[in-house]
Amino acid sequence: MKFSEVIGHQLIKKHLINTVDENRVSHALLFHGSEGTGKVLLALAFAQYLNCKNRLNDDSCGECSSCRKYSKLIHPDLHFVFPVVKGTKSTAPVSDSYLSEWRDVVLKENYFSIHDWYRYMGVEKGQGLIYAQESQEIIRKLSLKTFEAEYKVMIIWMPELMHQSAANKLLKLLEEPPAGTVFILVSDKPDEILGTILSRAQQLKIPRLSDEDITYALKMQYNLPLEECQTLAKLANGNYVAAKEIVSESEERVYFFDMFVNLMRLAYGRKLHELIAWSDEMGAQTRERQKSFLNYTLRMVRENFIMNMNEERLLYLTPEEKNFSLRFSPFINDTNVWQLAEELSLAHSHIEQNGNGRIIFMDVTLKVIILLKQ
Ligand SMILES: [Zn+2]
Repeated sequence: MKFSEVIGHQLIKKHLINTVDENRVSHALLFHGSEGTGKVLLALAFAQYLNCKNRLNDDSCGECSSCRKYSKLIHPDLHFVFPVVKGTKSTAPVSDSYLSEWRDVVLKENYFSIHDWYRYMGVEKGQGLIYAQESQEIIRKLSLKTFEAEYKVMIIWMPELMHQSAANKLLKLLEEPPAGTVFILVSDKPDEILGTILSRAQQLKIPRLSDEDITYALKMQYNLPLEECQTLAKLANGNYVAAKEIVSESEERVYFFDMFVNLMRLAYGRKLHELIAWSDEMGAQTRERQKSFLNYTLRMVRENFIMNMNEERLLYLTPEEKNFSLRFSPFINDTNVWQLAEELSLAHSHIEQNGNGRIIFMDVTLKVIILLKQ
């Protein structure tokens, strides 16, 4: 990963490059910030630059033997620790058992959430942890001599999900780091990391991406019209994982809008027979599509509530959606908006837990009938 492949963050890149050029790289760094800002990629670009044999002014060369191995995440002096879900493999619940899935999610997705990571591990939903067994692995890897590089780098993704005993072992290593080792901790929730670990790492806050940076990146990745990229970037709110999700959703947006309008009209008119047919149609979709539809509906409900509150400047709607919402928004108010949102989120999690789509959507339609009357 070269710095040029990471979206935005010009000042942070410059800062990281300077620390290497001026020979003041800290042995323990913590990159923290909200989801979808590219923290893992920045860590990788930094580590690649650190070990590049032919550094350029503002980036690694991308061509030396070290860069080539780094770009495939196969350098022998580059180590990873990340949460895994126990029981998904017969091997020990340690990062190395999932290394090929990890390389896949990083190299194919670039920007990914913990949920994307669970999907790559083959679980619909799970509780990932960095287990106690991982600490022996960390110690073993760091006691090895460096194979090829000047610096051995260990990237620890989501240290907030680290088991206490693994954290204690890590603490000892952070207190007396092996020579030539750089730890890069990458966290979405630094306030959930042990204070003793936090205090030993040099912290670097990675801010949300700007709308301009996301617009540009979407244009490059999907080649959509500029105006559409700008609208999507606003919706993404500085999170490129969200931006990618919205793009895949927007391909379905016309259909979702149609289904949303039907649901609201039929529920308002209490057309039970049609609502059963509606539920059958939604129930026949793939789980991913059902979840996307619920996300879409959740957003439409929120937008309509905002419209009802006359906060027009916050709206992100297409002209068709806005047209419908001008008439529909009076029905979404503070007596029903929270419960509607809760019911939709609940349906989302039931679908994630492999519930029966037809029954879940029928249940949603009945709730909507009741809540629209409030
Ligand atoms: Zn290089």
